Amino acid sequence: MAGQKAEAKKSTNANNVPLFSSKVTDLDVKLDNEIVYEFGGPLGVVGMMLGFPSLMYYFWICLEHHQGKLIVPAVWSVEGIKSFFWNDIWAAIVEGARPTVYAAKIYMGYILFSFILASIMPGPVVNGLPIPSLKGKKLPYLCNGLAAWYFTLPFSAFLHVTGIFRLTDIIDNFGHIMTIAIMWGFTLTTLIFIASHIQGTNHRMSGNLVYDFFMGASLNPRVGVVDLKMWAEIRVPWPILFYISVSCALKQYETRGYITAPAAFMVLAHFLYVNACQKGEECIPTSWDMFYEKDGFMLVFWNMAGVPFTYCYASIYLMKFEETTGVAITHSLPYTVGLFVALLSAYYIFDTGNSQKNRFRMEQNGSFIARNAFPQLPYGHIKNPSYIKTAHGNLLLTDGWWGVVRKPHYTADLVMALSWGLITGFGSFLPYFYVCFFLVVLTHRVSRDMERCAKKYGKDWDRYCERVPYIFIPYVF
Ligand code: NDP
Repeated sequence: MAGQKAEAKKSTNANNVPLFSSKVTDLDVKLDNEIVYEFGGPLGVVGMMLGFPSLMYYFWICLEHHQGKLIVPAVWSVEGIKSFFWNDIWAAIVEGARPTVYAAKIYMGYILFSFILASIMPGPVVNGLPIPSLKGKKLPYLCNGLAAWYFTLPFSAFLHVTGIFRLTDIIDNFGHIMTIAIMWGFTLTTLIFIASHIQGTNHRMSGNLVYDFFMGASLNPRVGVVDLKMWAEIRVPWPILFYISVSCALKQYETRGYITAPAAFMVLAHFLYVNACQKGEECIPTSWDMFYEKDGFMLVFWNMAGVPFTYCYASIYLMKFEETTGVAITHSLPYTVGLFVALLSAYYIFDTGNSQKNRFRMEQNGSFIARNAFPQLPYGHIKNPSYIKTAHGNLLLTDGWWGVVRKPHYTADLVMALSWGLITGFGSFLPYFYVCFFLVVLTHRVSRDMERCAKKYGKDWDRYCERVPYIFIPYVF
């Protein structure tokens, strides 16, 4: 550790963190161009592209009509399955999830609104990491998410209070809006895919049309100053998720005159998440998604439709349970307080964990800026951090939460996800769908990331793993 601190003394950065050069190594280029079939290759991604929307409809029907119970055909015969499909699934979709003009106005109205804010609101411009395919060029990102968020909050309250647009209409039209979002997810992916071919910005193409559609063709598609990938990751899914929970809570308020602790918990949980994304937006340009992942179905669909319309099951379950039974779900005081404490503690580690690493990376990139966005939590920025210097040139942080485990922010994120389920009790699997799905996503992400880092940093990565041996939980895993 002393040696690492000594290394830092040679730094040029105010926080004793050396700047890395924008020179892209041959290894960077090789790794950036390497094509490996992931997600089960072309067959696997076809399954996902068909499976995700189907699952979204199925889960929605279970929540909407069966109090979150996972329904199956009453009789397991050809006739039974046919009747299940037509009478239980298709009829429910036609009735409650067909695309309507009003749903399109709500969803596409928000998409347009958020895109306009992303184009015109003020904010700092932060450079991303050197892009290997652009010979080390750093792209500028206009980070005006916070200004847009602070504008959106009072504006939405104004729309609701004046009756111009009642926020409860979101949950009243949930199925219809979800269908519009699914259609938009496919449409936007196609538009970006075609534009990339026309503009000649295709990157790391496998040659298999379906697989490339899923993974994307373009690395950094932009319209004016708006980076579509960053906009889609930050501005669309989390605010919509938050407004779905607000909509459920308001619905409860309209019938009951007050909001129960579990409904308030979900609004708080989703507020924390969306607020974290906006207040830390300047950290996103140096993230893996920005400089490596392409903007294909995987990111576009998931952000436009998947995240907002599946991560919200806990809020909807609470509301539907009350609607059908007339009884609101509540818990004992210790259970409720325990979950609030768990949520806030996990949020603290999630926020400061992401912040510690991203700010460290920004310092190396020379793009660090201090911001006073609420809340700035103590321990979010490490002064004179310890790290491992790699032969590649990059530094690996071994201080703060990053000295405890290799993915502290994943662990904290998973605990938050679990708390979203636990606040609904144990009546249905659906509020736990998010944490189960997220565990699979993050485990897969970790293995992809570790593999890439092992290739990129070689022996230095082994040294790092020895120094920080556990991934998620100290002494366990
Ligand atoms: P990370 O923040 O873990 O970024 C991984 C990259 O960080 C690595 O490739 C490496 O990049 C660099 N890195 C790894 N270890 C270190 C270290 N010790 N010091 C410095 N740099 C390091 O990944 P994500 O982008 O996946 O996650 C960001 C956040 O987003 C997390 O909190 C996660 O939970 C959340 N998330 C949420 C999702 C959701 O659906 N709710 C989905 C996905 C993520 P390099 O090659 O440059 O060294």
